[in-house]
Amino acid sequence: MALFSSPPPATQLGWRWPHFSASELACPCRKHCKGEYFHDPRFLDALEAMRREMGPLPIRSGHRCRVHNAAVGGVQNSYHTKAIAADIAVTDKNRARLLQAAVNAGFTGLGYGRSFLHVDLGPARAWTYPGALGFWVRALGFDPMRNPVKPHKGSA
Ligand SMILES: [Zn+2]
Ligand SMILES: [Zn+2]
Repeated sequence: MALFSSPPPATQLGWRWPHFSASELACPCRKHCKGEYFHDPRFLDALEAMRREMGPLPIRSGHRCRVHNAAVGGVQNSYHTKAIAADIAVTDKNRARLLQAAVNAGFTGLGYGRSFLHVDLGPARAWTYPGALGFWVRALGFDPMRNPVKPHKGSA
């Protein structure tokens, strides 16, 4: 695991995650940094596992430099700034399946948004964004904050 001031060449990282690139997971601000990027093979392995189960995963946000994180209203010490996290676009059609795929892939930090799911490999915890929980409860048929989704082994 390492922090880079901009995405290094794929060969330097030994890139082996065909569906993602360092630049799509780097800070997008183009203002306060040069595309700061945190490389974590475990995180990328989990994303690829999720991709195999789900199909394409539109990444809304990956790593963020501190200034950009503050500018977009991210919490201090967010995994987006101290390591790497991803906000993955979600719709009502794939909401339940996406969450199950994230848990199956081993993601332990889950933030339930209305139009995205936050995933990271930090300590096991979950939170909701304002106005979003109802969408998840309706899609799942239960409240994931009270009844956390468990991994399905061998569901790939
Ligand atoms: Zn930045
Ligand atoms: Zn996030």
